Amino acid sequence: KLYNEVQDLKGNIRVYCRIRPFLPGQNQSHTTIEFVGEDGELVVSNPLKQGKENRKLFKFNKVFGQATSQEEVFKDTQPLIRSVLDGYNVCIFAYGQTGSGKTYTMSGPGLLSKSDWGVNYRALHDLFHISQTRRSSIVYEVGVQMVEIYNEQVRDLLSSNGPQKRYPFSLYCFLNLHTLGIWNTAQPNGLAVPDASMHSVNSMADVLELMNTGLMNRATSATALNERSSRSHSVLSVHVRGTDLKTNTLLRGCLHLVDLAGSERVDRSEATGDRLKEAQHINKSLSALGDVIFALSQKSSHVPYRNSKLTQLLQSSLGGQAKTLMFVQLNPDVASYSETVSTLKFAERVS
Ligand code: ADP
Ligand code: MG
Repeated sequence: KLYNEVQDLKGNIRVYCRIRPFLPGQNQSHTTIEFVGEDGELVVSNPLKQGKENRKLFKFNKVFGQATSQEEVFKDTQPLIRSVLDGYNVCIFAYGQTGSGKTYTMSGPGLLSKSDWGVNYRALHDLFHISQTRRSSIVYEVGVQMVEIYNEQVRDLLSSNGPQKRYPFSLYCFLNLHTLGIWNTAQPNGLAVPDASMHSVNSMADVLELMNTGLMNRATSATALNERSSRSHSVLSVHVRGTDLKTNTLLRGCLHLVDLAGSERVDRSEATGDRLKEAQHINKSLSALGDVIFALSQKSSHVPYRNSKLTQLLQSSLGGQAKTLMFVQLNPDVASYSETVSTLKFAERVS
């Protein structure tokens, strides 16, 4: 098939493609990216192969070429993020093979200067800014959770058992439960991730500190288990509660920022033991996510949330009035061509 249409915005699901630049030392002439259109068109091909059928055209809501800055990417994401302050639930995912720029888009490169900030830092910065300046009659409270899903097990990245133990954990949770109603996981729409600690934040400094803790807790296991971070999903959840002092009404919104595990296929003949098990878990949970988004885009009456921890966890923020954005990340190098095609097939299905 020459023309693979990734359809236009269907309901509340949108799909953006981002191509990362070549890294120093990569051969730039061996690119699989043939064309990036203003309106979301993307043509990929394998430069080492001849023939028309080699070219594939895809259509996204938007394609960000290699020169796109973090700021430009955020600009197109900002309205979605701000809708959290109006009480919407929003999920933003980064999907792609390891090395395609998922973490760069969601968080940024390792050492952060402000211009390198990825979507999550910018989102929190923006939410604080707006909530403090724009709506004087509404008072907002913001709380953050951060978990990792590895082999279908959820791990709290901000737990007090991590390297930076700062407060008596249970007391802290207890206080939160009482002072801020959103933390109550027993509420009908159960927004909070159960069993993960909730941390209220009042400033960007609080956020940076928490995120450092989370990243450190993630890194701890990465050394032990050899780059585990690329084989687990990380979920940063931002819970917002607004109280309108004039009308005495309450609204809640939630933003989930998800850096997914690498989507690359693992060679069955090479992987054994733990590695094979990891690969099967990743495969299963990414397909489950694809199935859920597909069912939502089809307005299907049955949405299979229960097939993975990830979709269970995000259930209240996927579907209904909730909004979903998927960043489909591509590595332009020819060596990644078959992974690029399989990533694009996934994107096609969820669009
Ligand atoms: P992933 O999380 O998908 O495994 P990373 O985000 O770690 O991939 O990106 C792989 C490498 O490419 C990192 O060194 C990262 O800094 C770099 N990189 C990714 N996207 C960009 C970009 N848009 N601009 C510059 N460097 C990038
Ligand atoms: Mg990563």
